[in-house]
Parts: sequence; C-alpha cells; structure tokens
Amino acid sequence: MSILSEYITEPKIAYFSMEIGLRDDMPTYSGGLGILAGDTVKSAADLNLPFVAVTLISRKGFFKQDINKKGCQIELPAEWEPSMLMNTATEKATVMIEGRPVYIQAWIYFVESLRGWKVPVIFLDTDLPENSPEDRGLTDYLYGGDKSYRIKQEVILGIGGVRMLNKLGFQIKKYHMNEGHAAFLILELLQEYKKDIEEVWDESYIWDYETVKELCVFTTHTPVESGHDKFSYDLYNEVIGDYFPEKILRKLAGEEYLNMTLLGFNLSQYINGVAKKHRMISQGMFPGYLINAITNGVHSFTWTSESFKKIYDKYLPGWANEPEIFVRVGVIPDKELWASHMEAKKKLIDYINSLSDVDMDYDTLTIGYARRMTTYKRADLLFTDPDRLKNIGTGKIQIVYSGKAHPKDTEGKKMIEKIFSLIQKFKGKIKITFIKNYNMETALKIISGVDVWLNTPLKPLEASGTSGMKAAHNGVVNFSVLDGWWIEGHIEGFTGWSIGSAPAQIGPENNINKIDANDLYEKLENIIIPTYYQNRTTWIRMMQNAIGKNAYYFNSHRMMRRYVTEAYIR
Ligand SMILES: *Cc1c(COP(=O)(O)O)cnc(C)c1O
Repeated sequence: MSILSEYITEPKIAYFSMEIGLRDDMPTYSGGLGILAGDTVKSAADLNLPFVAVTLISRKGFFKQDINKKGCQIELPAEWEPSMLMNTATEKATVMIEGRPVYIQAWIYFVESLRGWKVPVIFLDTDLPENSPEDRGLTDYLYGGDKSYRIKQEVILGIGGVRMLNKLGFQIKKYHMNEGHAAFLILELLQEYKKDIEEVWDESYIWDYETVKELCVFTTHTPVESGHDKFSYDLYNEVIGDYFPEKILRKLAGEEYLNMTLLGFNLSQYINGVAKKHRMISQGMFPGYLINAITNGVHSFTWTSESFKKIYDKYLPGWANEPEIFVRVGVIPDKELWASHMEAKKKLIDYINSLSDVDMDYDTLTIGYARRMTTYKRADLLFTDPDRLKNIGTGKIQIVYSGKAHPKDTEGKKMIEKIFSLIQKFKGKIKITFIKNYNMETALKIISGVDVWLNTPLKPLEASGTSGMKAAHNGVVNFSVLDGWWIEGHIEGFTGWSIGSAPAQIGPENNINKIDANDLYEKLENIIIPTYYQNRTTWIRMMQNAIGKNAYYFNSHRMMRRYVTEAYIR
C-alpha cells in the first residue's frame, strides 16, 4: 500500500509554490512568499481542507548567512537531509528538457494539524542516478543559477508537478498557483484536456481553454514589473521548444517574451492580489483582468511566542483554530499581558546579549526591523538624519536588525554593510544590533521580543508584508508606511502608527525619503517614546488592539476560508 493511499480518495486542491517554508530545519524558503505558502498549508490542515501542496526540494536551500566584521554578507550552502524528515514515493515522473528525459522523484512530507488532519506536501527532486550530473542539480538551489536554470526548475515544478500528482493517483479539482513560477502547469493541463476532434482545420480549436481556466487559481505577489518572471522565446525553444506550439504560447503569455504571470492571468478563473491596495496596483499593470483581493494572513499558532500561547490558552481557549476569538482580548488582565510581553522581550534581549557585547537591557523601548534586505524596503530610512536620531533616541531606544540579501543583490548587501557601520557610529549613544541569518526561528524571537515593529517600504512596492501581522499576534505594535496590509490594519494611535503620507497621496516626490523620515522622527519623538515611558496604560491598550483588531483579522485561517468560498468552490 502506498503511503498516500488514504489521501487519494477524494479530489484535492493542489497548491503549487516554488518555495514553501514550513519549519526551520527545512531551508526551502527565501522570505515572505515561502513563509506565506507554509502558513497556507498549515491553515489548510487545521481547517481539514482537501489539500495537497507541490514544491521543489531545494536540497541546498536558499543560503545560510554569515557576515564578517565589516558587514560583508557571506553565503554558505544550507544543505539539509530530506530523509531525516520524510520518505519518497516509489512513483517517478519525467519531463523533457533540452530533448532528454529528466526523472523526478517525490518526497512526501505531512503537515499535521493539532486535531490530526494531515496535508501532504510533495517535494520534487531530480537528484536521481538516472539523470546526468547537471540535471541532478536542478532542484538544489532556490532562486540560484541563471535564467536557464530557472526555466528548467519551472518546467519541473509546473509540468513535472502535474505529472507527479497524476502518477501518485491524485484527482485535482483546483490548481492554485502561488506566483508565476508554476504557470507551466497550465500548458500541461491544456495537453491533458485537449479536445478529441477528428478533423482539425485550425490547430487552435483543439485547446480547451475554458475547461483549464475553470481549474486554475492564480495569486500574484509583486507590484513591480521586474518582479514578474519572464523568459525569451529563444530560451523557451532551447529548453522545451517542441512541447507546446510557440505561436499559441505567444498569444497566451505575451508576444515579445514569455511572461509567466500573464500566462497565469490568461488561464485562471480566479486571480488574486495579496492586499486591497495591491489589487489596485495589479489592476493597473494588467488592465482588462478581473483581480480580487484576499489579503494575506499568517498562521496564528506558528507565529505566537510561548508566553503569549500561555495567556491565550488561559483566557482565550480555542484561539489557535479560531483566531476570531482574539476579539475578546480585553479579558486578559493588563498585568498579565504586559508580563507575557516582558517574558518574550527578556528572551530576545538575553539572546542578543549572548551573541555580542551590545549589552541591551529589558526596559529600553526596543524597535525591531527584520526582513529581506532589498532596496525598496529602505532598511536605513531610520538613519536618514543620524544627528536627529541621536538627539531623539539616545538613552531612550535600542534597535534590532536582521535580514538576508539575495546573493546577486549588491544594493541589498551594501545595506547590510551600512547598518554595520552605523552600529559602530552610534556606539555609546544608541545600542543597535544585527542578528545574522534571519530565519523562522529568529523571526519569531524578534517579532515577539521587541516593543515596536518598524516597516519602511517605498510605496507602493510592498504588496502585502506579513511580518507586521506576526508582531501583532504577540501584542507588538506596528509603526509602518501605509502600504500593503497596513493600509487595512492601521488605525492611527489605536492599532499603531503610520509613517509618511496617506496612500492616496502618492506623488512623484523625489524627496519622499525625507518626507517619510521626517514623519518617522516626529512621531517617534513626540508620540511613541513619551507613550512608552509615561503612559503604559495607553501602550497596553494599543497592544490589545494589535491583537484584537490586527491578529483577529490578519491570520491565514481567515485567508484560507475566503479562498475556499471565493476561489476554490466557485
Ligand atoms: C515573515 C517573514 C518574512 C516576510 O517579512 P516581511 O516583513 O513581510 O517582508 C521574511 N522572512 C522570514 C524568515 C519571515 O519569517
């Protein structure tokens, strides 16, 4: 009997994602997109959904980050051993790449909910003796290699993924593409559902677009043009040229180049942006398509620290599977809420002090900033006017940073160097630390252990953002630019604070950094620091609102229930 026999008895929703971040010892994610995919699968399990996920094994992970004294990022392979955590199925699938067959095996990992429902996650792997050494490495590096490596990975994920599900005996009622990386699955479905017409005058009649479209759901995650995966048709032809007629593909995925997002848009019955604002931006980039907005959420149980789990269990039993219960956060006594926060904060500060000689303390207002280091996120906005920051913050704030830059992102790497040099410049004034190798474990420590969660992206480039939602689950108050989810979650002085102008006032101001920084300093000096030190009751009310208004809504259970009713069972 196959390890999957009890999972193939009813039709499933198949969720395809290039990266899925489920746990810290599986380095198969790079950032927000992968963590969201992991949270999606976990909520699907908690909600007993008929669900199966497909991704790549990424045997060498994204990378492990080390940083030298000067702040230069060093990338180490994040090798891991899948056999420690899961088994392979006996079935194998193949895809043709550059005219040769590439064999794929499937590792099956089960995500199990607290109530026992399991969702299988299929990790596709080409590291088989049947394959050439080059092909064996195709599922090694997440977002590694060149364009050719990437398109081959996408062939394995999209085409190989559909074939593997068939081989394993799954029946699929919806295919949900998390970003464009998996959009080749559409071509495989078109082949599978080809019409059986005897006399064909025009080849385009044989493709059953309507049937395939009914089966597909697409979520787009980036509001930047360059963020969409694109390939030249030359490369397409080189790698899988005779698989699907180029003439037709150009109609579906773009005349000039193969745009994976466009392919997904054209053949999905339901298209989603990840926040209301992102829906609007996407609508502008892709006029003529109906785009919906199911705003992202995070998995409440995963992103709540131990001390908060304890008080939620005590006062809000059932919260993990019904985060709506956070609406009753007011039943938690102020003292206990604060004590839970201090417990998480002490844990973080002790951890930081064990790593370096920064000597942070428990009672100073602590600001956290951690996410992928990439230019638009403006990790250095806080330091726009260093002297002003010194005046405002000396003796009153301490700052925690963390984040990886993509190995090819020189600007992102420079940002890390800049923060390292600022740590030195501010010595004796403001304590600043940078925690290396941002991952799920350090993320939970940081988002739960600081007092204020800072996010300073350049509008409108943050599609959603999710780390602020994690912070809110731990009563940590957001202080952020009005972009992505924060436009929906923010109530000034109530759930947190905004930075910069309202989202409607996006002008081509070239001094937007200055405007945003100025607002940041004003609020830090006149509102946030005084409230923290002089008005603890107001502060605790805001912590309650972060939980009762933000975590209440921005969780992946709400997100998945909406996907079910609006996208999956339509
Ligand atoms: C949540 C998370 C992210 C995403 O953070 P954003 O602030 O939404 O960009 C990235 N990396 C890790 C490890 C995370 O846990």
